[in-house]
Amino acid sequence: MSGVLVIAEQRRGELRPVSLELLGAAQALGGLPVAVAVLAPNPARFVPALSVPGVAEVITVELAISEFDPDTFESAVGALIRARAPAVVLMAHSVDSFGYAAALAARHGYGFATDVFKVERTGGELIATRGGYGQKVNVEVDFPGRDTVILALRANVFKPPEGTAAPVVSAFEAPAVESRSLGREYIEPPGGDDVDMSTAEFILSIGRGIGEEAKVAQFRELAQALGATLGCSRPIADAGWLPKSRQVGQSGKTASACKLYVAMGVSGAIQHLAGMKHVATIVAVNTDAEASIFSVAKYGIVGDIFEIAEELRRHF
Ligand SMILES: Cc1cc2nc3c(=O)[nH]c(=O)nc-3n(C[C@H](O)[C@H](O)[C@H](O)COP(=O)(O)OP(=O)(O)OC[C@H]3O[C@@H](n4cnc5c(N)ncnc54)[C@H](O)[C@@H]3O)c2cc1C
Repeated sequence: MSGVLVIAEQRRGELRPVSLELLGAAQALGGLPVAVAVLAPNPARFVPALSVPGVAEVITVELAISEFDPDTFESAVGALIRARAPAVVLMAHSVDSFGYAAALAARHGYGFATDVFKVERTGGELIATRGGYGQKVNVEVDFPGRDTVILALRANVFKPPEGTAAPVVSAFEAPAVESRSLGREYIEPPGGDDVDMSTAEFILSIGRGIGEEAKVAQFRELAQALGATLGCSRPIADAGWLPKSRQVGQSGKTASACKLYVAMGVSGAIQHLAGMKHVATIVAVNTDAEASIFSVAKYGIVGDIFEIAEELRRHF
């Protein structure tokens, strides 16, 4: 095939949005033919959703397991790669691929990079960009001498293709495998709430500048008065002051639909910026005039967030 093989990701019968983002990334690889494989019980049900422009073939792989299993996926994806010999395999950088992709690449000598947020082919050479040294630098990785390269791509970065298409649909039979693990129970991650940060149009985010948990209430009220969705930086979620679902950034949510983002007491670490720097109107409040958040802000206030919050409350 020597094209691109995308491994779609589904969880509990729902196609994960990153699957379509992988197809968007595949299109940027200079016109290589794209096939997408979906591994699941009754995989045919995902064919319509994966039939988007740029996809030449949807490959269904029937699996008997209802929950993700690393041995089954390593075996099935490995067999598919050997059968199709793709130049590039794209999968999500997710808890699923953590379980089998590195083993697969190591076992067969494939090129491999994780948490990739940019991928391109120049002059036939594949270059993947990922963070390095705790995301402090961007690292460009190439893969000399590798016929097949597996890339695990970061979610919420690549644009999914729009529209529908009519790709060829084929079935692939995965070899039987004896798994070494057993899924006992599926438990939803704790601490979430109903909010979906990716659909919020106006976000007021708080960072470590609020100092203590007791101050969260003041900003919750302010957000409510302004009609904003309350978001936060990672230290606030890590401390349990707000649910993880409110965290914006690389390991949190992307403010995809946001038009106005107010960052209060947020320094603007690269990982936070990853989730919001694209927003058209960013307002930042920080006592430190040198804070990185001001580099992406349209409007900046060098000042105390509590004073600004009180002043705003007087008007709303
Ligand atoms: C792999 C990885 C993934 C990560 N993912 C994320 C992520 O998804 N989201 C995320 O946010 N972070 C993430 N981080 C953490 C990130 O590196 C930063 O540590 C974090 O964003 C810092 O949060 P902060 O800006 O709230 O805190 P700080 O960096 O401590 O900044 C607090 C700011 O508040 C200001 N301040 C203090 N008091 C006041 C006041 N009274 N008025 C006004 N300003 C004040 C200070 O000047 C400072 O700029 C990740 C890190 C790693 C390594």
